[in-house]
Amino acid sequence: MSIPLDSSTAKLMQAYHTSTPCTWCDGCGDYGIWTAIKRSLSELNIAPHEVLLCFDVGCCGNGSDKLLGYRFHGLHGRVIPFAAGAKLANPKLPVIAFGGDGASFSEGVGHLVHAIRSNYPIVFVLHNNANYGLTKGQASSLTWQGQKMDSSPNGIPEHTLPSMDFVFSLEPTFVARSFSGDIEQMTRIMKAAIKHRGFAFIDILQACPTWNHFATHEWLQSHVYDANAEGHDPKDFAKARKIATDTSERGSTGILYQNEEIPSFYERLVPRQGRKTTAVAEVHITDVSALMKGLV
Ligand code: SF4
Repeated sequence: MSIPLDSSTAKLMQAYHTSTPCTWCDGCGDYGIWTAIKRSLSELNIAPHEVLLCFDVGCCGNGSDKLLGYRFHGLHGRVIPFAAGAKLANPKLPVIAFGGDGASFSEGVGHLVHAIRSNYPIVFVLHNNANYGLTKGQASSLTWQGQKMDSSPNGIPEHTLPSMDFVFSLEPTFVARSFSGDIEQMTRIMKAAIKHRGFAFIDILQACPTWNHFATHEWLQSHVYDANAEGHDPKDFAKARKIATDTSERGSTGILYQNEEIPSFYERLVPRQGRKTTAVAEVHITDVSALMKGLV
């Protein structure tokens, strides 16, 4: 499906372009997510030098050199701490973090817990392809129980981590879900997430044709519905949790929950209240030499 772009959006999208060749497999959902992020930033009139994009290790992290912007590619499972740290140092900068389900719901799950309860003012995009794609498709904690994978030919014995129920148990302020084949919906969600006051969690059900042969692009396309188009009110926490976790027949997508009333972590930081400057600016005006002398 072609999506009409106005000329200024198209021009700004071009500014994010790099000539680095893409290394994702044919049909990978990362292409759609990558397009949606460029489009959402461009529609918000945010240029590459006005945003920080943070990447976890994984196939999603291999997107770090496929678009321009200030970019940071860190350790596996650790994208949230460095994204949050950068945001707290320079709260004027929109910060978007990208991580896979393997990193985010295993190695990095503690960081996700504290990001949600802290309400850090950053966007987190979960590339949820239900496996560790970069390292040859091992099962993750979000792979379906019993699902046979190349590295677990009898199927995994553990039950699948109920990720959405887990996220809702932490009292989030923004939860959305989309599908890597729906660029228009991902763009709408990302724009709202970038403007959100606190931590925005976006679960993107991502096609991985190389390793995930159970939730394919076609299967996902036929098993999701747009809850907002069907009248869901994102202010209704209980209903949002219910439709996010009930995937027995179809999976809900769209902005499932949004609460702009809760202050972000930065707003609640007493030492920052009333300050006109940011920590990055203060590095230049604060003399810490006496303090450093005490440390050596
Ligand atoms: Fe995409 Fe899967 Fe290939 Fe990774 S392994 S690039 S997630 S299709």
